[in-house]
Amino acid sequence: MSKENIPYKIYLSEDELPKQWYNVRADMKKKPAPLLNPATGKPVTAKELGAVFCDELVKQELDDTTPYIDIPEEILGFYKMYRPSPLVRAYCLEKALDTPAKIYYKFEGNNTSGSHKLNSAIAQAYYAKKQGLKGVTTETGAGQWGTALSMACSYFDLDCKVYMVKVSYEQKPFRREVMRTYGASVTPSPSMTTEVGKKILAEFPDTNGSLGCAISEAVEAATTSEGYRYVLGSVLSQVLLHQTVIGLETKTAMDKYGIKPDVIIGCAGGGSNLGGLIAPFMGEKLRGEANYKIVAVEPASCPSLTRGVYAYDFCDTGKVCPLQKMYTLGSGFMPSANHAGGLRYHGMSSILSELYDQGLMEATSVEQTAVFEAAQKFARVEGILPAPESSHAIKAAIDEALKCKETGEEKTILFGLTGTGYFDMYAYAAYNDGKMSDYIPTDEELQKSIANLPKID
Ligand SMILES: *Cc1c(COP(=O)(O)O)cnc(C)c1O
Repeated sequence: MSKENIPYKIYLSEDELPKQWYNVRADMKKKPAPLLNPATGKPVTAKELGAVFCDELVKQELDDTTPYIDIPEEILGFYKMYRPSPLVRAYCLEKALDTPAKIYYKFEGNNTSGSHKLNSAIAQAYYAKKQGLKGVTTETGAGQWGTALSMACSYFDLDCKVYMVKVSYEQKPFRREVMRTYGASVTPSPSMTTEVGKKILAEFPDTNGSLGCAISEAVEAATTSEGYRYVLGSVLSQVLLHQTVIGLETKTAMDKYGIKPDVIIGCAGGGSNLGGLIAPFMGEKLRGEANYKIVAVEPASCPSLTRGVYAYDFCDTGKVCPLQKMYTLGSGFMPSANHAGGLRYHGMSSILSELYDQGLMEATSVEQTAVFEAAQKFARVEGILPAPESSHAIKAAIDEALKCKETGEEKTILFGLTGTGYFDMYAYAAYNDGKMSDYIPTDEELQKSIANLPKID
């Protein structure tokens, strides 16, 4: 199809929205390794997980054989408020780069939470409500997940307790207030409200907090309160499952116009947006039906895929969650405070880790000043102020398009634009003032936290 026939934005009708999530694990010959109980070293049972997570979500977490899982009507109804999200042909960016490449991005920032996280938040809140729970607890780093969850909980009239990484709580007061507007309670983490928080504060009184630490507090709060369960916004396989609406919509839209991406790029924190975007494409790849180059982009300051090890590790600093086999920097790894955006998690989705280990996808890391440079370039031509996290994908997509300019290749590049950056203006200010710096951990630093991985035979 000629370039002119592709609209700037490809929308789908309500009828074309996916009615099922796609479980990519069903098509993986070698499955991700099972979650282990840290006390016994044995695979966790549904019963054990049920003490922490909602029953239906436990089922989804442990299901690596059912390829398609129905999206309940109530969730579909909520999705229709803000989905489909547009698939945009980045004509303006192509022109600015003077590249023969064709660039597309799937924009997930068109909802109040400002990111893709709402896709899973609404599903998790729905299953919690259906189970008759009073409420849920969670952690949030940059704040998008907490915001999404508070929106979802208010929709289903559930109580929502958010432990927010201390540095974000202080740097992003407006995120905090959005959450409170939707009825959530927000506690800076580490806090004195949990035993694990007290312990971490005793050891590291000046800590900025970390996701791993906030997770431990949220899990403790859930397991010590009647009628509460813990929910998580990334990393887990259930979250990747919910996020496949991104990829399924993208695939439907591209198929409509006969577009086949050569390269698919996404930023990777815990791996949920990337896992969701690539899922149907990876499915084709796993079934031998098509081939795609798939690239995870992570910050050079928190490089779990590119510099981590593939091993069982704790998902949280307090070591209360099940052990997961993943690419990890060690659960004690604390990214430098001068790293602005999200994508601070020490590990990676077990699904993406396994796919990466099998060589089915690639990974690259980028430094934050280059990321903001790409963000600014994108904002100026495409009109959207991107989230710093999303801008990692923009940076890699621009690099790929510039390579095409050198070689003359007309590659089709697809990337995930996960959200908007309105709550990240301190980081943009640092960049605009020329005060942003890059931080890359030394091998010694990484070795230190990697040395503390649990010993599993
Ligand atoms: C949370 C978040 C990410 C990273 O999380 P993943 O689970 O890796 O997708 C990326 N972009 C935005 C805007 C986010 O809020």
